[in-house]
Amino acid sequence: NEFPGDNSGNLQPRQTPGVLYSKAFPTPVQNPQLLAWSEELAQELEIQTPTPEDITILGGNRVTESMQPYAACYAGHQFGNWAGQLGDGRAITLGEWETNAGKSWELQLKGAGPTPYSRRADGRAVLRSSVREYLMSEAMYYLGIPTTRALSLVSTGDQVMRDMFYNGNPHYEPGAIVLRVAPSFLRFGNFEMLAARQEEENLKKLIIWTINRFYPHITGEDKIINWFKEVVARTAGLMVEWQRVGFVHGVMNTDNMSILGLTIDYGPFSFVDSFDLRFTPNTTDLPGRRYAFGKQPGIAYWNLGCLASALTLLFSDTDQLVAALETYEPIYVQKYHNMMANKLGLDTIRPEDGSLIADFEEMLSAVKPDMTIFYQLLIDLPQNSDESTIISHFQESFYKELNSEKTAVFSKVMQRYLERLKTTAIPKAETKSRMRASNPRFILRNYLLHQAIEELERGESQLFEKLQAAIKQPYSRNFDEFFAKRPDWASQKAGCSMLSCSS
Ligand code: AMP
Ligand code: MG
Ligand code: MG
Repeated sequence: NEFPGDNSGNLQPRQTPGVLYSKAFPTPVQNPQLLAWSEELAQELEIQTPTPEDITILGGNRVTESMQPYAACYAGHQFGNWAGQLGDGRAITLGEWETNAGKSWELQLKGAGPTPYSRRADGRAVLRSSVREYLMSEAMYYLGIPTTRALSLVSTGDQVMRDMFYNGNPHYEPGAIVLRVAPSFLRFGNFEMLAARQEEENLKKLIIWTINRFYPHITGEDKIINWFKEVVARTAGLMVEWQRVGFVHGVMNTDNMSILGLTIDYGPFSFVDSFDLRFTPNTTDLPGRRYAFGKQPGIAYWNLGCLASALTLLFSDTDQLVAALETYEPIYVQKYHNMMANKLGLDTIRPEDGSLIADFEEMLSAVKPDMTIFYQLLIDLPQNSDESTIISHFQESFYKELNSEKTAVFSKVMQRYLERLKTTAIPKAETKSRMRASNPRFILRNYLLHQAIEELERGESQLFEKLQAAIKQPYSRNFDEFFAKRPDWASQKAGCSMLSCSS
């Protein structure tokens, strides 16, 4: 509460110059019912299993005295263009929760009704998108990837009107609310907004507050530039992690970029099934493929450029900012190579490995095997394999029969890889355990989410519950019933693009 909030309680959509947030109260819903609860997260937060009365809080029907709910004001670059003020249009922070362990968490309801930043929209979220965010943010956590978390999923008992693009008529879907949890939901866009308004003092205050609270190890005179360098490094690290598991965010606008380097704002995301650097799960991104799998690291750099340009308001010498920004590529490449070494089971990265990794990726782009299955099979590829053994070993990962050209490319790269593997200094068993720790065996595929949501909408929760268990052990063999390629009916070409749409 160090900033001048807008305390008018006025929910009309509006511009809010001079403030970083506005008071916003959740709008009550018909009949909040708890659909899911993250028990392990609750334990970390030292929060007890919700009573029926608590569920009214999770549904936005009750605000306790100690809560000071607000919606944050931020701006952003969307699809490469400056979009001006956006803000939390359907997220309301209830407050900050401090644990006895000394950690502080922002608790935020998503879908709890309009705020001053809702513009023309309703402030609500549908069950479909809420299930996706709830499960996927927890799945990313258990994969070991920095992310916001989800404590609860509540159905509201209300119907939410959505214009579905496939028929153009108003269409109703059940509403839901997720309680999201993170140390902070601050985005690049919070900083960009203050810079765009030339609010130099507020920008400085917000940065110093962010550093003191979330980057307390950064001190001294150069703390702002050092902080920016760390944001650059964390963001590069996050991109490497996304590429490791094949996660495609889908809407990497600067308002969806966490200042803490977390995966944030789960919308039309997807894992890649078949390895395809051009894959985008976002139908509105299809013409340009700006947010395609292979473009994510470059887009993160572009987004950091937006943040850097916001910071120029505070720097007379912008060379420092440029230099800090330019650390992105070397940091990314180094982390990426380390990550690939683990995925491939190499002991270390030698100078010549860079070209092997590049060729490996090029081969995967040409052959397009199922990424997850391919890397699982790689772990057990026999040391001395000829072309036909190699092809049959990976058969299960191919979506299409390989033609002779692809067969040749595939086996050539694999043989080169096997040669390289022979020269590693670490024992085979350790190689395999490294690979197992870096290559997930279970990923939360879009079609599984789609099926679980369809079931939930019919009042069945069997698959949903199974997925809740499976996401917790992504590196194990305990959920091999899901160890399979994406079925034909769920491919993008088959017209199932609604699998990925969010709202
Ligand atoms: P997104 O692309 O989902 O990150 O959202 C971009 C902006 O639109 C953010 O400011 C959101 O708060 C806002 N927004 C998205 N959906 C809704 C909604 N149903 N009601 C109000 N605001 C929304
Ligand atoms: Mg967003
Ligand atoms: Mg969103």
